[in-house]
Amino acid sequence: MEKEFVGKKVVVSGASRGIGRAISLAFLEQGATVLGIYGGNETAAQAMRDECSAAGDHLRLTRCDVSNATHVEELFRDIENEFSTIDVLINNAGIRRDKLLALMDVEDWQEVINVNLTGTFLMAKHAVLLMLKQKYGRIINITSPAASLGFQGQTNYSASKAGQMGLTRSLAKETAKKKITVNCVAPGFIDTDFLDGLNDSQLAEYKKMVPMRRFGRGDEVAAAVLFLASAGAAYITGSLLDVNGGL
Ligand code: NAP
Repeated sequence: MEKEFVGKKVVVSGASRGIGRAISLAFLEQGATVLGIYGGNETAAQAMRDECSAAGDHLRLTRCDVSNATHVEELFRDIENEFSTIDVLINNAGIRRDKLLALMDVEDWQEVINVNLTGTFLMAKHAVLLMLKQKYGRIINITSPAASLGFQGQTNYSASKAGQMGLTRSLAKETAKKKITVNCVAPGFIDTDFLDGLNDSQLAEYKKMVPMRRFGRGDEVAAAVLFLASAGAAYITGSLLDVNGGL
Protein backbone atom coordinates (compact mmCIF):
# COMPACT_ATOMS: atom_id res chain seq x y z
CA MET A 1 0.00 0.00 0.00
CA GLU A 2 1.24 3.54 -0.82
CA LYS A 3 2.68 5.36 2.19
CA GLU A 4 0.52 8.38 2.96
CA PHE A 5 3.16 10.99 3.87
CA VAL A 6 5.96 10.42 1.37
CA GLY A 7 7.61 13.77 0.57
CA LYS A 8 5.82 15.59 3.41
CA LYS A 9 7.76 17.68 5.91
CA VAL A 10 6.41 17.30 9.43
CA VAL A 11 7.51 19.34 12.47
CA VAL A 12 6.81 17.63 15.81
CA SER A 13 7.58 19.39 19.09
CA GLY A 14 8.42 17.21 22.08
CA ALA A 15 9.51 14.55 19.60
CA SER A 16 12.13 12.78 21.71
CA ARG A 17 9.89 11.15 24.32
CA GLY A 18 6.39 9.88 25.02
CA ILE A 19 3.54 10.83 22.72
CA GLY A 20 5.66 13.03 20.44
CA ARG A 21 8.09 10.19 19.93
CA ALA A 22 5.25 7.84 18.97
CA ILE A 23 3.83 10.46 16.58
CA SER A 24 7.26 10.94 14.99
CA LEU A 25 7.75 7.19 14.52
CA ALA A 26 4.30 6.89 12.92
CA PHE A 27 5.04 9.69 10.42
CA LEU A 28 8.45 8.16 9.62
CA GLU A 29 6.73 4.84 9.04
CA GLN A 30 4.46 6.59 6.51
CA GLY A 31 7.37 8.06 4.57
CA ALA A 32 7.51 11.62 5.98
CA THR A 33 10.59 13.65 6.82
CA VAL A 34 10.27 14.50 10.52
CA LEU A 35 11.84 17.63 11.97
CA GLY A 36 11.63 16.80 15.66
CA ILE A 37 12.10 19.32 18.44
CA TYR A 38 13.13 18.55 22.01
CA GLY A 39 13.66 20.74 25.05
CA GLY A 40 16.99 19.76 26.59
CA ASN A 41 17.17 16.08 27.48
CA GLU A 42 20.11 15.12 25.26
CA THR A 43 20.15 11.51 26.47
CA ALA A 44 16.57 10.89 25.31
CA ALA A 45 17.22 12.66 22.00
CA GLN A 46 20.37 10.60 21.33
CA ALA A 47 18.55 7.38 22.22
CA MET A 48 15.91 8.20 19.61
CA ARG A 49 18.53 9.09 16.99
CA ASP A 50 20.26 5.77 17.64
CA GLU A 51 17.04 3.81 17.48
CA CYS A 52 15.95 5.52 14.26
CA SER A 53 19.31 5.44 12.49
CA ALA A 54 17.68 3.51 9.62
CA ALA A 55 15.55 6.60 8.90
CA GLY A 56 18.70 8.50 7.86
CA ASP A 57 17.97 12.06 6.76
CA HIS A 58 14.25 11.51 7.26
CA LEU A 59 14.63 12.23 10.98
CA ARG A 60 16.23 15.43 12.24
CA LEU A 61 16.13 16.10 15.97
CA THR A 62 16.89 19.67 17.03
CA ARG A 63 17.00 21.26 20.46
CA CYS A 64 14.73 24.30 20.68
CA ASP A 65 12.81 25.76 23.61
CA VAL A 66 9.34 26.30 22.13
CA SER A 67 8.62 29.00 24.70
CA ASN A 68 11.57 31.12 23.55
CA ALA A 69 10.56 33.47 20.71
CA THR A 70 14.14 33.88 19.46
CA HIS A 71 14.83 30.13 19.43
CA VAL A 72 11.62 29.43 17.52
CA GLU A 73 12.33 32.19 14.99
CA GLU A 74 15.82 30.78 14.37
CA LEU A 75 14.43 27.25 14.08
CA PHE A 76 11.97 28.27 11.37
CA ARG A 77 14.59 30.36 9.55
CA ASP A 78 16.72 27.21 9.30
CA ILE A 79 13.72 25.14 8.21
CA GLU A 80 12.81 27.69 5.51
CA ASN A 81 16.39 27.78 4.22
CA GLU A 82 16.57 24.03 3.90
CA PHE A 83 13.01 22.99 3.06
CA SER A 84 11.29 26.19 1.93
CA THR A 85 8.05 25.17 3.64
CA ILE A 86 6.45 22.50 5.85
CA ASP A 87 3.26 20.50 5.48
CA VAL A 88 2.38 19.52 9.04
CA LEU A 89 3.01 20.96 12.52
CA ILE A 90 2.28 18.95 15.65
CA ASN A 91 2.37 21.12 18.79
CA ASN A 92 2.98 18.39 21.32
CA ALA A 93 5.68 19.73 23.69
CA GLY A 94 4.14 20.14 27.11
CA ILE A 95 4.95 20.18 30.79
CA ARG A 96 3.05 20.14 34.06
CA ARG A 97 3.94 21.68 37.45
CA ASP A 98 1.05 20.51 39.63
CA LYS A 99 0.17 22.34 42.83
CA LEU A 100 -3.00 23.59 44.49
CA LEU A 101 -3.67 27.12 43.25
CA ALA A 102 -3.42 28.64 46.72
CA LEU A 103 0.12 27.26 47.02
CA MET A 104 1.21 27.84 43.44
CA ASP A 105 4.13 30.20 42.78
CA VAL A 106 3.78 32.59 39.89
CA GLU A 107 6.83 30.82 38.34
CA ASP A 108 4.94 27.49 38.24
CA TRP A 109 2.00 29.23 36.63
CA GLN A 110 4.11 31.12 34.09
CA GLU A 111 6.37 28.25 33.06
CA VAL A 112 3.44 26.00 32.17
CA ILE A 113 1.65 28.77 30.27
CA ASN A 114 4.89 29.68 28.48
CA VAL A 115 5.69 26.17 27.24
CA ASN A 116 2.20 24.80 26.61
CA LEU A 117 0.37 27.88 25.32
CA THR A 118 2.92 30.49 24.23
CA GLY A 119 4.97 27.66 22.69
CA THR A 120 1.92 26.63 20.64
CA PHE A 121 1.40 30.24 19.55
CA LEU A 122 5.04 30.77 18.51
CA MET A 123 5.34 27.49 16.60
CA ALA A 124 1.95 27.98 14.90
CA LYS A 125 2.75 31.57 13.89
CA HIS A 126 5.94 30.62 12.07
CA ALA A 127 4.42 27.46 10.60
CA VAL A 128 1.44 29.39 9.21
CA LEU A 129 3.78 31.92 7.56
CA LEU A 130 5.48 29.04 5.70
CA MET A 131 2.27 27.13 4.94
CA LEU A 132 0.64 30.21 3.42
CA LYS A 133 3.27 30.10 0.66
CA GLN A 134 1.92 26.76 -0.57
CA LYS A 135 -1.68 27.32 0.51
CA TYR A 136 -1.69 24.01 2.34
CA GLY A 137 -1.05 22.84 5.85
CA ARG A 138 -2.12 20.80 8.82
CA ILE A 139 -1.66 21.98 12.40
CA ILE A 140 -2.54 19.64 15.26
CA ASN A 141 -2.33 20.80 18.86
CA ILE A 142 -2.06 18.18 21.60
CA THR A 143 -4.30 19.30 24.41
CA SER A 144 -5.83 17.40 27.34
CA PRO A 145 -9.12 16.48 29.03
CA ALA A 146 -7.86 18.79 31.79
CA ALA A 147 -8.98 21.67 29.55
CA SER A 148 -12.66 20.80 29.88
CA LEU A 149 -12.82 18.57 32.99
CA GLY A 150 -10.24 20.30 35.18
CA PHE A 151 -8.17 18.31 37.65
CA GLN A 152 -7.22 19.24 41.17
CA GLY A 153 -3.72 20.73 41.30
CA GLN A 154 -3.70 21.57 37.59
CA THR A 155 -5.09 25.09 37.29
CA ASN A 156 -2.00 26.22 35.35
CA TYR A 157 -2.01 23.14 33.12
CA SER A 158 -5.79 23.17 32.53
CA ALA A 159 -5.70 26.88 31.65
CA SER A 160 -2.87 26.31 29.18
CA LYS A 161 -4.70 23.42 27.54
CA ALA A 162 -8.02 25.31 27.36
CA GLY A 163 -6.04 28.18 25.83
CA GLN A 164 -4.73 25.85 23.12
CA MET A 165 -8.32 24.96 22.24
CA GLY A 166 -9.36 28.60 21.93
CA LEU A 167 -6.30 29.30 19.80
CA THR A 168 -7.16 26.31 17.61
CA ARG A 169 -10.74 27.42 16.97
CA SER A 170 -9.75 31.01 16.12
CA LEU A 171 -6.76 30.08 13.97
CA ALA A 172 -8.86 27.53 12.09
CA LYS A 173 -11.17 30.36 11.01
CA GLU A 174 -8.24 32.57 10.00
CA THR A 175 -6.62 29.93 7.78
CA ALA A 176 -9.56 27.92 6.40
CA LYS A 177 -9.59 29.70 3.02
CA LYS A 178 -5.90 28.91 2.59
CA LYS A 179 -6.52 25.16 3.04
CA ILE A 180 -4.66 25.11 6.33
CA THR A 181 -6.58 23.06 8.88
CA VAL A 182 -6.08 23.43 12.63
CA ASN A 183 -7.34 20.82 15.08
CA CYS A 184 -6.77 19.44 18.58
CA VAL A 185 -6.20 15.91 19.78
CA ALA A 186 -6.87 15.38 23.47
CA PRO A 187 -5.21 12.24 24.81
CA GLY A 188 -6.53 10.85 28.09
CA PHE A 189 -4.11 9.17 30.49
CA ILE A 190 -1.24 7.93 28.32
CA ASP A 191 1.55 5.80 29.71
CA THR A 192 4.57 8.13 29.36
CA ASP A 193 7.12 9.87 31.62
CA PHE A 194 4.46 12.59 31.97
CA LEU A 195 2.73 10.48 34.63
CA ASP A 196 5.98 10.19 36.64
CA GLY A 197 5.54 11.59 40.10
CA LEU A 198 2.00 10.28 40.53
CA ASN A 199 1.89 7.76 43.35
CA ASP A 200 0.33 4.28 43.05
CA SER A 201 -2.97 5.26 44.61
CA GLN A 202 -3.32 8.28 42.29
CA LEU A 203 -2.55 6.06 39.28
CA ALA A 204 -5.11 3.48 40.45
CA GLU A 205 -7.71 6.21 40.97
CA TYR A 206 -7.10 7.67 37.50
CA LYS A 207 -7.31 4.21 35.94
CA LYS A 208 -10.68 3.68 37.67
CA MET A 209 -11.95 6.88 36.00
CA VAL A 210 -11.30 5.43 32.53
CA PRO A 211 -14.20 3.31 31.26
CA MET A 212 -11.74 1.07 29.38
CA ARG A 213 -9.87 0.57 32.69
CA ARG A 214 -6.43 1.07 31.17
CA PHE A 215 -4.09 3.91 30.22
CA GLY A 216 -3.56 4.57 26.52
CA ARG A 217 -0.41 4.20 24.43
CA GLY A 218 1.45 6.78 22.39
CA ASP A 219 0.77 4.91 19.16
CA GLU A 220 -2.97 5.12 19.85
CA VAL A 221 -2.68 8.92 20.00
CA ALA A 222 -0.46 8.91 16.91
CA ALA A 223 -3.15 7.12 14.88
CA ALA A 224 -5.59 9.99 15.54
CA VAL A 225 -2.95 12.60 14.74
CA LEU A 226 -2.06 10.95 11.44
CA PHE A 227 -5.72 10.84 10.48
CA LEU A 228 -6.14 14.59 11.06
CA ALA A 229 -2.93 15.22 9.10
CA SER A 230 -4.09 13.07 6.18
CA ALA A 231 -5.65 14.13 2.89
CA GLY A 232 -8.90 12.48 4.01
CA ALA A 233 -9.33 15.00 6.84
CA ALA A 234 -9.41 18.01 4.50
CA TYR A 235 -12.85 19.20 5.67
CA ILE A 236 -12.15 18.89 9.40
CA THR A 237 -10.93 22.08 11.04
CA GLY A 238 -11.38 23.77 14.40
CA SER A 239 -12.31 20.43 15.95
CA LEU A 240 -11.25 18.32 18.92
CA LEU A 241 -10.64 14.58 18.76
CA ASP A 242 -10.59 12.77 22.13
CA VAL A 243 -8.38 9.69 22.49
CA ASN A 244 -9.12 8.71 26.05
CA GLY A 245 -10.75 5.29 26.46
CA GLY A 246 -14.16 6.88 27.06
CA LEU A 247 -13.19 9.32 29.83
P1 NAP B 1 6.68 13.65 28.06
O1 NAP B 1 6.85 12.17 27.96
O2 NAP B 1 7.04 14.32 29.33
O3 NAP B 1 7.52 14.34 26.85
C1 NAP B 1 7.53 15.72 26.72
C2 NAP B 1 8.30 16.13 25.47
O4 NAP B 1 8.21 17.57 25.37
C3 NAP B 1 9.79 15.81 25.54
O5 NAP B 1 10.26 15.48 24.26
C4 NAP B 1 10.41 17.15 26.00
O6 NAP B 1 11.77 17.31 25.60
C5 NAP B 1 9.51 18.13 25.26
N1 NAP B 1 9.56 19.47 25.86
C6 NAP B 1 9.26 19.82 27.13
N2 NAP B 1 9.44 21.15 27.30
C7 NAP B 1 9.86 21.63 26.10
C8 NAP B 1 10.22 22.93 25.64
N3 NAP B 1 10.20 24.01 26.43
N4 NAP B 1 10.62 23.06 24.35
C9 NAP B 1 10.66 21.99 23.52
N5 NAP B 1 10.32 20.73 23.90
C10 NAP B 1 9.94 20.57 25.19
O7 NAP B 1 5.18 14.07 27.77
P2 NAP B 1 4.00 13.29 26.98
O8 NAP B 1 3.25 12.47 27.94
O9 NAP B 1 4.53 12.66 25.75
O10 NAP B 1 3.05 14.53 26.62
C11 NAP B 1 3.07 15.14 25.35
C12 NAP B 1 1.89 16.08 25.25
O11 NAP B 1 0.69 15.37 25.50
C13 NAP B 1 1.92 17.23 26.27
O12 NAP B 1 1.49 18.41 25.65
C14 NAP B 1 0.92 16.81 27.33
O13 NAP B 1 0.33 17.91 27.94
C15 NAP B 1 -0.08 16.04 26.48
N6 NAP B 1 -0.85 15.06 27.24
C16 NAP B 1 -0.23 14.01 27.86
C17 NAP B 1 -1.00 13.09 28.57
C18 NAP B 1 -0.40 11.88 29.25
O14 NAP B 1 -1.12 11.23 30.02
N7 NAP B 1 0.84 11.52 28.99
C19 NAP B 1 -2.39 13.28 28.66
C20 NAP B 1 -2.98 14.38 28.04
C21 NAP B 1 -2.19 15.26 27.34
P3 NAP B 1 12.94 17.13 26.69
O15 NAP B 1 12.80 15.77 27.25
O16 NAP B 1 14.20 17.37 25.92
O17 NAP B 1 12.69 18.20 27.73
